[in-house]
Amino acid sequence: MWYYLRSNIKKLNKKLKSDKEIINSLNSFLENTDQRTGSLMLDLKKLQEVDGMETWRQKEAQELSDLVQRRLRYLQNPKDCSKTNKLVCDIDKNCGFGCQIHHAVYCFIVAYGTQRTLILRSKNWRYSREGWEAMFQPISVNCTDEYGVSRANWSESNDAQVIYLPILDEVHPRPPYLPPVIPKDLSDRFMRLHSNPIVWWIGQFLKYLLRPQESLSKFLKEAEKKVDFNLPVVGIHVRRTDKLWSEGAFHKVEEYMEHVKTYYKQLELKQPIEKRQVYIATDDPNLLEECWNKFPGYTFIGEPDTAKVAAVIDTRYSPEALKGVVEDIYMLSKTDLLICTFSSQLGRLAYEIMQTNHPDASSNFRSLDDIFYFGGQDYPYQTVIYDHQPRSSEEIELKKGDVLIPRTNLWNGFSIGMLRHNNKSGVYPSYKVVDQIQVQEFPLYKEADD
Ligand code: GDP
Repeated sequence: MWYYLRSNIKKLNKKLKSDKEIINSLNSFLENTDQRTGSLMLDLKKLQEVDGMETWRQKEAQELSDLVQRRLRYLQNPKDCSKTNKLVCDIDKNCGFGCQIHHAVYCFIVAYGTQRTLILRSKNWRYSREGWEAMFQPISVNCTDEYGVSRANWSESNDAQVIYLPILDEVHPRPPYLPPVIPKDLSDRFMRLHSNPIVWWIGQFLKYLLRPQESLSKFLKEAEKKVDFNLPVVGIHVRRTDKLWSEGAFHKVEEYMEHVKTYYKQLELKQPIEKRQVYIATDDPNLLEECWNKFPGYTFIGEPDTAKVAAVIDTRYSPEALKGVVEDIYMLSKTDLLICTFSSQLGRLAYEIMQTNHPDASSNFRSLDDIFYFGGQDYPYQTVIYDHQPRSSEEIELKKGDVLIPRTNLWNGFSIGMLRHNNKSGVYPSYKVVDQIQVQEFPLYKEADD
């Protein structure tokens, strides 16, 4: 509703450029809309506090996470490594940190689905010659070798003791475990707890994978001190440099700040704002200064040097850059609201990790471009819940019960997608559909649960 009203008022504003009086009244309408939305959001939050289930939510989130982590530990630390089935992946996919970590998550999900211990090759990793353990705890204590009596590539066999999994872009046949599916045995609990279960599920693999080594842990604790986490903080991730060559559009910092302003304006209804903190992660070394100059009412926290190292390909893949990007992701995941472009793997990564810090932080984000997705995922589906008659040639007709493959959210109250039964693509009101949760049988890991 908020997106719909805002974008229409802005459109009108543009059309009525010369009529000051109407523009003023539209602006005041917008201002009012923001406040009314803020009040509604607060009511919803309060409902959550008074429904008597908050303690349950906290406890359930903890128990469910403990259960998944226990299963992952069990999978990764078999009794006899020489006899266990293994899945081998190389972390060093030819891409950035976010993309490589997502590659590791894909491998881990397939390992979980096929009940194989994941062996993550990481020597000579482009970010750190020492490999994964330079930053993160080993993903297994007792099973890290690729030894096995039989070996095969994923496409050749699924019985060999050691299977080599290619990158997701090349995997054939496609494993049935890929996002957006979630495991059937846990699906009811996931759905009850979280509004976007697939993000929660991915977050659990990240929780296991990204357990920091002691030195990294200290470094991150130090980094945390730059922000007062007792007060609200908004995180923004501004991805520029090479992303703008083909994959992402340029977004002015004002676009991000509009969401920051709205967030604080709405929060102000509830409490006095001591400090308007904004954590900035970016690969644009000039951005922080621009923010300091343009928005004096805000406390911007970030490291121009980190951005400098991240900006240039020569230095981007270095241990120093690795520390910088890990710090940025960690800090973004700890913020109360993340404003980013989901076209960037880093934005999505921070959002996924954020879910491990709360029972349900599925709405703590604003994306300036894509909807959330896992790169290379299987088709997500939406189900139509209200009929829709097109009002322009761009729109498509919807019938209750139709199934859509969503493409993009226009963030103006409308989305674009394709109807599965006739392949027709077009625009439709976002509120007329709901996301489908897709469920798949996975191994049950009974031994780990006992
Ligand atoms: P994507 O290209 O944005 O989808 O994400 P990737 O993680 O795959 O590649 C981008 C790489 O650029 C990152 O892994 C970092 O090395 C660097 N980078 C981009 N944005 C930032 C940022 O905000 N902070 C830091 N420290 N590095 C960044």
